[in-house]
Amino acid sequence: MGTVIAIANQKGGVGKTTTSVNLGACLADFGKKVLLVDTDAQGNATSGIGIRKSAIQNDVYDVIVNELPIRQAIMKSEKENLDVVPATIQLAGAEIELTAQMAREKKLYAALQEVKAEYDFIIIDCPPSLGLLTINAFTASDSILIPVQSEYYALEGLSQLMNTIHLVQKHFNPNLQIEGVLMTMLDARTNLGQQVVAEVKKFFKDKVYTTVIPRNVRLSEAPSHGLSIIDYDPKSRGAQEYQSLTKEVLRAHE
Ligand code: ADP
Ligand code: MG
Repeated sequence: MGTVIAIANQKGGVGKTTTSVNLGACLADFGKKVLLVDTDAQGNATSGIGIRKSAIQNDVYDVIVNELPIRQAIMKSEKENLDVVPATIQLAGAEIELTAQMAREKKLYAALQEVKAEYDFIIIDCPPSLGLLTINAFTASDSILIPVQSEYYALEGLSQLMNTIHLVQKHFNPNLQIEGVLMTMLDARTNLGQQVVAEVKKFFKDKVYTTVIPRNVRLSEAPSHGLSIIDYDPKSRGAQEYQSLTKEVLRAHE
């Protein structure tokens, strides 16, 4: 049975999508069957792994809001072992449309049951909010991986995130766990980053991965080529560190 991991933090620009795409791609390279589910209306994970808008027939909106069988929205990526449920701007209306629906928190959970057995890992890229789409992702997940940007105010908002996780545990998904906390965009030239890593470790203890993702320009270039970092520049620091993260994740699931 596949492990479902939500990549979440309601702050924008902390590396959720970068982590979703590159963890997904690295897991696929290690021979795991991976489904990447994009739940952000921006569709950055979708385009970042090379799915063209013009090729999308059904998206995650159809699955969550219209209860389309998820198989009809799954697309093959260029990468072996890596499938995608794409998102388009259509998803922007989903939060409001879901509000009036029955079992609105469990739509994605229900959809994934159909295909969960066919994948080793299902990675859900969450939007930058704690709304119904994120609640759907948490309800559908075994665990949550939290990317935290290595900057001042890194801890800001994390207690709100923890509250939301506790609410979902209480009402919808008692087995939901913290997969791990990933420090991202570390600037090695300043001391600040290291201080922030130490702060976050005080808060999350051994949940913080040993791997820290550095600020690496190759990571920001890769999406515009529709490639993960291991296909765009396998020798880059970014690629090495996302591979190292992937090994930590695999070890935790042995
Ligand atoms: P989120 O999904 O949390 O909004 P993204 O993964 O989209 O964050 O990252 C925000 C921006 O920062 C993107 O332009 C991305 O390419 C860039 N980025 C992410 N991680 C790194 C990194 N480690 N080094 C350099 N740029 C990064
Ligand atoms: Mg994103």
